[in-house]
Amino acid sequence: MAAERCIFGRIGAGEIPCQRVFENEHVLAFLDINPLAEGHTLVIPKRCVERFEDLAPAEAVELALALVIVARKVLKVTGAAGYNILQNNGRIASQEVPHVHFHIIPRRADDGLGYRWKPQESDPAVLTALAQRIWDAAG
Ligand code: 5GP
Repeated sequence: MAAERCIFGRIGAGEIPCQRVFENEHVLAFLDINPLAEGHTLVIPKRCVERFEDLAPAEAVELALALVIVARKVLKVTGAAGYNILQNNGRIASQEVPHVHFHIIPRRADDGLGYRWKPQESDPAVLTALAQRIWDAAG
């Protein structure tokens, strides 16, 4: 028996309605139901994949191509000065829906959205060792 699809899997399959702004064979983009800003859009693979690192290479390429198109479309329509592309993986990283989704969030001056970003001092030797470990790890 096939595994039950999550909400975005069902939206991608056309079982649940959404406000779609772009679609092709592999990807769907639609407006977020609780937007952080006008034009807040979600871009998803149609196939059910929970996390970014689980995407097939061709699927990742399709998503990247769609992101460029959808970002241009959203910017054109909203007239926003900039935008964030955000993609959460795992509950610890605020992923609520267990299906890969990229947020395109239009930004305006004084929109009050902010971003908590706390840079830390680091030891160059520690960075060098860490970079080497990541370089050597299987991808
Ligand atoms: P996450 O925290 O998982 O990165 O973001 C999930 C996003 O999906 C939230 O911004 C939320 O508003 C949006 N969302 C959740 N359920 C639905 C839905 O049924 N339809 C749409 N269009 N957006 C949804």
